[in-house]
Amino acid sequence: MPAPGARRPSRPGAWARLRRNALATFGLGLLVTIALLALAAPILPIADPDVTAVAQRLLPPFSDGAILGTDQLGRDLLSRLLWGTRVSLAVGVIATLVATIVGSLIGLVAGYYGKLVDNVLMRGIDMLMAFPYLLLALAIVAALGPGLLNAMFAISLVNIPFFARAVRGATVGLVSREYVDAARLCGFSDLRIIAAELFPNVLPVIVITMSTTLGWMILETAGLSFLGLGAQPPQADLGSMLGDGRKLIINAPHVATLPGLVILFLVIGTNLLGDGLRDVLDPRLKSGAMTRPVAATAAAGTQERGGGQGTPVPPPLLSVRDLQTHFTVGHEVYRAVNGVSFDVQAGEAVGIVGESGSGKSVTAMSILGLVPTPPGKIVGGEILFQGTDLVGLPLRELQNIRGGKIAYIFQDPLTTLNPLFTVGVQVAETIQRHQGIGRAAAMARTLELFESVQIPDAKDRMGAYPHQLSGGQRQRVGIAMALANEPDLIIADEPTTALDVTTQAEVLRLLDTLRREKGAALIFITHDFGVVSELCDRVLVMYAGRIVESGPVAQVFAEPAHPYARRLLDCVPILGQPERSIDAIPGLPPAVNDLPPGCAFAPRCDQVAPPCREGNIELRDLGAGHAARCLFPGQAAS
Ligand code: ADP
Ligand code: MG
Repeated sequence: MPAPGARRPSRPGAWARLRRNALATFGLGLLVTIALLALAAPILPIADPDVTAVAQRLLPPFSDGAILGTDQLGRDLLSRLLWGTRVSLAVGVIATLVATIVGSLIGLVAGYYGKLVDNVLMRGIDMLMAFPYLLLALAIVAALGPGLLNAMFAISLVNIPFFARAVRGATVGLVSREYVDAARLCGFSDLRIIAAELFPNVLPVIVITMSTTLGWMILETAGLSFLGLGAQPPQADLGSMLGDGRKLIINAPHVATLPGLVILFLVIGTNLLGDGLRDVLDPRLKSGAMTRPVAATAAAGTQERGGGQGTPVPPPLLSVRDLQTHFTVGHEVYRAVNGVSFDVQAGEAVGIVGESGSGKSVTAMSILGLVPTPPGKIVGGEILFQGTDLVGLPLRELQNIRGGKIAYIFQDPLTTLNPLFTVGVQVAETIQRHQGIGRAAAMARTLELFESVQIPDAKDRMGAYPHQLSGGQRQRVGIAMALANEPDLIIADEPTTALDVTTQAEVLRLLDTLRREKGAALIFITHDFGVVSELCDRVLVMYAGRIVESGPVAQVFAEPAHPYARRLLDCVPILGQPERSIDAIPGLPPAVNDLPPGCAFAPRCDQVAPPCREGNIELRDLGAGHAARCLFPGQAAS
């Protein structure tokens, strides 16, 4: 229980998120209105729905005593509509519940036990699915005889497969998870595992399937009744009213149109609400993570290119100017990269350090347009590589640069190497793609590369699949792939974080040696200041999407100017100084969708002064290429 008055986490609750979805709220309103009216039918001052009055036949809407008119037997249409809606809703809801319960149980049991149980159950389900399902429902009603109850039974039955298949799929993905294994090892019974471990995890799937099926069920019940197989006179549901009114469509169109409209509203309401529920239950849909990102990050419209500026000598290999990359998630804008500028000279090694979430990866991915769109977008700035602006470059040209002149080494190659191809083939593929040479030549070149990155028994290992290699070997493959096309710039995003300390040191040394031999520049991203000092010439310290300090490594190490850089450096253990206390930086980095004015580090800074919390603080030049975004640079806390 949170303490009274404690700040609640900022993530809005499910209800608030549903309310923000205007269409879903509209659907909910529509459904609730119709349902309330139908429920209230017995107490509303309306006529008896079954009392006929032949003298009052087919009165048009807005007649005296019958606001919506009467049908062919003189019965009050409003009253019949409300009572009919009750029947349709009840049948739809009950049929949905039956299908949900039976289908989910089948899915859970089949998914959990697998093997024979799964085969028997799911083949049964397949048999049900083999028939067009409305036809199957018709056949069932034909066999059982017409009537609402039989129609309901038929509709439940034909909808069971949808639940069974969805739930089984979700369950199969869960049974091999560690927490289910742990429950088994604890000796829990199968029933308890299904009920307590699996069911809560498949519940979103069940609710989503339910909400999207309800509309269908209402429509199907109406369909059967329309054909005279559902509700029998004098009882009426919306479908049978539509069926009766159909014959009068020319003379008295309102008799058929009104029940049709109610069906339309009901189905629209359930579907809009269902879509909204799905978004709420699966936030990945809203954030855009489930949509397939396009091949290159979107960039904001054309901007004036700085062509006429005096070019510095020598022009840098890479010049990033005021880069801004934002993520739009719902109504929130996350300023992951918020005005970053830096240069990388040919052959230079630049380190980017900062805590997790400071925007290092997004900066690096922006360079090659690898930030996923949606939700990411480069909204401003330019990235000049050998004089060409990479922002908004046509995909084809960008693809020639990716893996060619600029290579990227990812954190964990297990996630970026294709598990179904041998590593040799994958490295050879990048060579073929960029150098246009034949397969055999590319394989020969790959062998050389594997030897140069010191993979033992290189010829043999080329035929291995990624999962057959150790973490260190996989990262060597990653380095081989990056070096394959003699890049001018290598971007390495925490390439050794997934490795143990010894392997880490070896891989780093290898990367450094090979890079120097080839004369490639390096952007090295890490959260470890210690690694930067060994590998890099210059360092950029990032915090909350901005560079807060930059300068030559030796300079920044000796005299860190920004309190954040100082705190980061304090976290680096020094050999031979076991008494040095290594304190974590108190507090957490700010959320980049809600940055405070002034210095983003102010809330965690131990020497913060009132001016730190105001306005925009610029990066200040401290001489000798050293700069810091701090009003009081270099003042140690007393
Ligand atoms: P790091 O410095 O650890 O590499 P990142 O550059 O990966 O940090 O992320 C910086 C910020 O960008 C994160 O705090 C997050 O808010 C935002 N971000 C990154 N990727 C996404 C994404 N796919 N969708 C939404 N926000 C993202
Ligand atoms: Mg990262």
